[in-house]
Amino acid sequence: MIQKVHINTVQQRIQAACQRSHRHVSEVQVIAVTKYASVDTVAAAIQAGFTHIGENRWPDAEKKWNVFASEATWHFIGSLQTNKVKPIIERFSYVHSLDRISLAKEIEKQARERGKQVCCFVQVNMAGEVSKRGLHPADVQLFMEQLCLFPHIKPIGFMTLAPYTKDPEQTRPIFRSLRMLRDELESALSLSFPHLSMGMSNDFDIAIEEGATWIRLGSILMGEGGI
Ligand SMILES: *Cc1c(COP(=O)(O)O)cnc(C)c1O
Repeated sequence: MIQKVHINTVQQRIQAACQRSHRHVSEVQVIAVTKYASVDTVAAAIQAGFTHIGENRWPDAEKKWNVFASEATWHFIGSLQTNKVKPIIERFSYVHSLDRISLAKEIEKQARERGKQVCCFVQVNMAGEVSKRGLHPADVQLFMEQLCLFPHIKPIGFMTLAPYTKDPEQTRPIFRSLRMLRDELESALSLSFPHLSMGMSNDFDIAIEEGATWIRLGSILMGEGGI
């Protein structure tokens, strides 16, 4: 269950990380990842002011979305199969896992039919882990160029998952290299990609120090198990 003490700890750590990196706390937004949480826990999260909700599977999200649809902004953070795009595009404002053109085509189609533009993060596999999705860093520039052909997709930045490590400091090079890749692409393409979705319960302080604008927090807010 979500507890005041967890919220306070998270807020203090966000503040401290912002101070260390000379950033303002308003530059960092929290997505409460409720994938393992019950309807009651989502209610508590929204009550506590976490109005950005992250889910990674539509079947798990459906019940919660049906209850809280308009009270929150919905972020899809899981890997997305092309045939599962429709219910997401109907309901979610952000997709954090855009990683291939076939998926872009389907998002474009569904968004166009609904006359909306979907904010997307392009997922990059910075650590090159075979178990994780995301574009190889070397392929991202061409991908961003191709995305210009999809007017209903708004690429707002990049997302990455760092490998889990006991020592979160080891994730710093992953986050830093995503920020540097973003900076390079902005100047190469003369486009702006203002957002970086990076950092989870284990490593969000480091991600903030390296430029995260959205951190995705599950277990640290909801407790292990998350119910
Ligand atoms: C589950 C999940 C999170 C939250 O993980 P915690 O370690 O519980 O904070 C963040 N991002 C993605 C993509 C996830 O699947």
